[in-house]
Amino acid sequence: MHKSQMLINGELVASLSGKVEIIRNPANQEPVAEVSVGSREDARLALEAAKAAFLEWSRTTSTLRADLLHEAARLVRKRSEDIARLLTMEMGKPLKGSRLEILASADTLDYYAEEGRRNFGQWITSSNSRSIVIRQPVGVCALITPWNFPVDLLAWKVGPALAAGCTLVAKPPSQAPLAATEFIKAVSEAGLPPGTVNTVHGPGGEVGAELVENPISRKIAFTGETGTGKWIMEKAAKQIKRVSLELGGQSPFIVCADADLDKAAAACAQRAFNNMGQICISVNRIYADEKIADEFTSRLVVRTKRFKIGSGLESDVDLGPMASEAQRQKTKEHVADALRKGAKLLYGGHEPEGPEYENGFFYLPTILSGTNHSMKVMREETFGPVAPVMKFKSLDEALALANDTEYGLAAYVFTESLKTAIYAAERLEAGGVGVNVNSVVDMQAPFGGWKQSGVGRELGHYGLEAYLEIKHIRVGL
Ligand code: NDP
Repeated sequence: MHKSQMLINGELVASLSGKVEIIRNPANQEPVAEVSVGSREDARLALEAAKAAFLEWSRTTSTLRADLLHEAARLVRKRSEDIARLLTMEMGKPLKGSRLEILASADTLDYYAEEGRRNFGQWITSSNSRSIVIRQPVGVCALITPWNFPVDLLAWKVGPALAAGCTLVAKPPSQAPLAATEFIKAVSEAGLPPGTVNTVHGPGGEVGAELVENPISRKIAFTGETGTGKWIMEKAAKQIKRVSLELGGQSPFIVCADADLDKAAAACAQRAFNNMGQICISVNRIYADEKIADEFTSRLVVRTKRFKIGSGLESDVDLGPMASEAQRQKTKEHVADALRKGAKLLYGGHEPEGPEYENGFFYLPTILSGTNHSMKVMREETFGPVAPVMKFKSLDEALALANDTEYGLAAYVFTESLKTAIYAAERLEAGGVGVNVNSVVDMQAPFGGWKQSGVGRELGHYGLEAYLEIKHIRVGL
């Protein structure tokens, strides 16, 4: 069985307590790996190692860091098949999705290798002095990530942190730590000095809390639930630590009467059900113009019926199991709540039938019509494969409904009119708006949330700035 240890100061180590846990495949609950489980003590050792390494790493040139990050990307690509299989076995997503995730993570390292060279300053001329503005690495960073994209979301942080000259301690999710740990190992083996990158496993409330509370960490980069983000922000405030928080979402998808309905239905099905809806920018609420709502919904059902469901390791599978029984239970509860309050079930709403599904956390992609804002599916983050449709009469009504949420991560609008697209995009309260596309992720552009979906931005040049402090050097003449 695969064994996953922690990486501290360049060494693969067991936890000080010797505690281990078994990770099981959500498709069949068979054991996949044994993981060392750390505690606050292990986290402290990792932070000390990162602090010691910071002196040397922060003074390296951006050229050297670029070379090492490119080499890290090469190693990740070389090992991508093995890492992808681990990812599928620990959290269930189909192998083709895992492969894309690992390759995208390597691309992110390559991108930040080059973006790190664009850490520019300013020269300001005054009468009796010169002002030089430079940006320097913020210090030791704690990177805390969730289980739905455990490698990609880590790469979004590791790439810019290292390019900026920061050292780091990563805490992968307890539920899916395997692929993230292999990713960090590959990065470390690119030739980084010991202690530059470290990984500690263990419960968020213990290991994560130590990384947040210990004065050694100067910045916390976190992706996860809004509730955890609030706790981290509160703790970080006590030491005025820098934070980047990428939190929950409740993304609306508006289909206007003039939309290309086939394109909209395909995009909607893919974004609502990919990764079993366990994506922060999943389509969570669909608002369709009453003139086309029934036609759009029937095309959505047709598209959804085409998905092949099964263990992620089987070829041609589109949808795997959910990551855990807890996720499946939450999804069932949200669907039951909607049906109780009058929604109509158009597809799914239960587990698929057959012996191959019996031991896994499978659930059919589910489409509901006749939904409204009294239902949990329209108010809370289901984080499951549910597509609730609601009709609207005017675009302003749809926009008001779309913005009627505490979240503000992503929003989508489908229309063939440029005027309507711009009108909607400017009024949607979200960090990313997709017009006739079903993703707001582009490595070169900022990603992040408004309202309770987060603070700060990842990706693009903004992602690098998040790991840099500004310094003004005033030189008297
Ligand atoms: P959690 O917030 O439960 O966990 C995320 C990470 O935080 C895990 O590594 C967890 O450790 C750790 N953690 C938990 N408690 C603490 C604590 N007190 N201090 C420090 N670290 C802690 O989120 P989930 O894993 O359930 O992930 C799903 C959530 O992530 C969803 O809400 C989703 O929307 C959000 N998400 C947001 C994205 C975005 O970019 N905005 C992208 C993807 C997901 P452990 O695993 O040990 O509990």
